[in-house]
Amino acid sequence: MTNTKMPFVSSQQIEALERVFPTPFHLYDARGITENARRVNAAFSWNAGYREYFAVKATPTPAIMELLRAEGCGMDCSSLTELLLCEKLGIGGDEIMFSSNDTPAEEFRLAHKLGAIINFDDISHIPFYDECVGEYPETMCCRYNPGGKFSIANRIMDNPGEAKYGMTREQISEAFRMLMQRGVKHIGIHAFLASNTTSEAYYPELAAQLFHLAVELHEETGAHVAFINLSGGVGIPYRPGEPMPDISVIGSGVKRAFDDILVPAGMGDVKIFTEMGRYMLAPYGCLVTRVLHEKKIYKDYIGVDASACDLMRPAMYGAYHHITVCGKEEAECDHLYDVTGSLCENNDKFAVDRMLPEVEVGDTLVIHDTGAHGRAMGYNYNGRLRSAEVLLMPDGSAKLIRRAETPEDYFATLDF
Ligand SMILES: *Cc1c(COP(=O)(O)O)cnc(C)c1O
Repeated sequence: MTNTKMPFVSSQQIEALERVFPTPFHLYDARGITENARRVNAAFSWNAGYREYFAVKATPTPAIMELLRAEGCGMDCSSLTELLLCEKLGIGGDEIMFSSNDTPAEEFRLAHKLGAIINFDDISHIPFYDECVGEYPETMCCRYNPGGKFSIANRIMDNPGEAKYGMTREQISEAFRMLMQRGVKHIGIHAFLASNTTSEAYYPELAAQLFHLAVELHEETGAHVAFINLSGGVGIPYRPGEPMPDISVIGSGVKRAFDDILVPAGMGDVKIFTEMGRYMLAPYGCLVTRVLHEKKIYKDYIGVDASACDLMRPAMYGAYHHITVCGKEEAECDHLYDVTGSLCENNDKFAVDRMLPEVEVGDTLVIHDTGAHGRAMGYNYNGRLRSAEVLLMPDGSAKLIRRAETPEDYFATLDF
C-alpha cells in the first residue's frame, strides 16, 4: 500500500520552505482556510443572522484569526489571554462569544468591557457576575447540558451526564428568568454534546433538540430566544480513506430542523451560530519535522526534531495523525516504525507501529492535520521550546506568523 493521504504542499515546496524556516514548524494553508470558511458560510447562508465564531483555543494565532475574520467569522474565547488577543486585533462587541467555564471574575469583567456575548456555563455564575460586574448587556447566553447520553440513531455519540459543562433543564429555565429580571432582552442557548464527530447527523440532531428547548423556554418564560449556538465538535478525517463531513449537507440538515420546529412556532428570526475550531483549521495545517536518528532495538524508532511539545494529541489521546515522508509519496509503505520525539516520556510518539516507506536520517516528515489543537496545546516539558508557525499564502509565498521560542522566552518567567 502506498500513502494515500496527500499533504496540501508538494515535497518540492517543503524543500524550498525548509531552506528558509528551520524545522520543526507548523505550516498553514491560507487558501485552504479561506475556501473552507466560504463553504461553511454558504452552508448556513439560508439563516440571515448566521455566524461562525472561530474557537480561538484551537489556533490562537493573529494571522489565522485575521484570515477567518476577513470571511466574516467572529471569535469564540474562553480565557483572559484569548480575550486580550481579540482586543489587540480590534475585535469586540458581538464579534466575540465568551464561552468559558469555572470563570475567574477578571475574565467576566474584560468580556463585559469588550462587549462580548457572554455565555454562562452555570446558574451560579449569575450571582457571581452580579458581584463582579453587576451590569447586564441586552444579550446573554446560557449553556445547556441535557445529561444522560447523547445518541443519534441508537449510536452513542457522547456522555453529557459525565461532562462538567452547562446547566440542567430545570436550571436553564431558572437562569432565563433570572436574566430577564436583570433586564436582559435577548437570550441565546449553547450546547456542545459530541466531540470530533464526522457524523453529518450531529449538528442537525443537536439543533433539533435545542430548537425544541428554545420553543419550550420561550413558552415558559416569554423570553426572546435570539440565537442557538451549536458550538464545535464537527470532526475531520484524520485517517486515510475516511470521508470529510460535507458542511453543505450539515447546513441543510439544520435548516430542515429549523423549518420543522422553529418556523411553525413563530421563531423564524432565531440566528444560528457555530463555534468550530477543528473543522475550520485542522486539515489546513501540518507539522514539518526532520529525522534526526534511526534507532533499532526491539522495535525500529524514527526520532524527529519535533516532540509532543509541538503536537500533544497523539501522546494525550493516542490520536492518529497521518504521516507523509517527503519525496517518498509514491513509495511502498513496507517498513514498520514508531515515530518519536525526544521527551523523557515514553508516550512521546507521533505514531506507533506505523507502516511507512523506508525512512532515512535527514528525511522530512509531514505530520498531517495539525492546524487545530496542534501548536496550541504545546507545552514546555523537558525545557523543550515550541516551534514556529508559517503561513503559506495563495501566491505560493510563505510568511513567518509566529517565531519559534528561544531559551530567553523560557527563562522570562524565572527569577535569577
Ligand atoms: C473546544 C471548543 C470549541 C471548538 O471545538 P472543536 O471540536 O475544535 O470544533 C467550541 N466551543 C467550546 C465552548 C469549546 O470548548
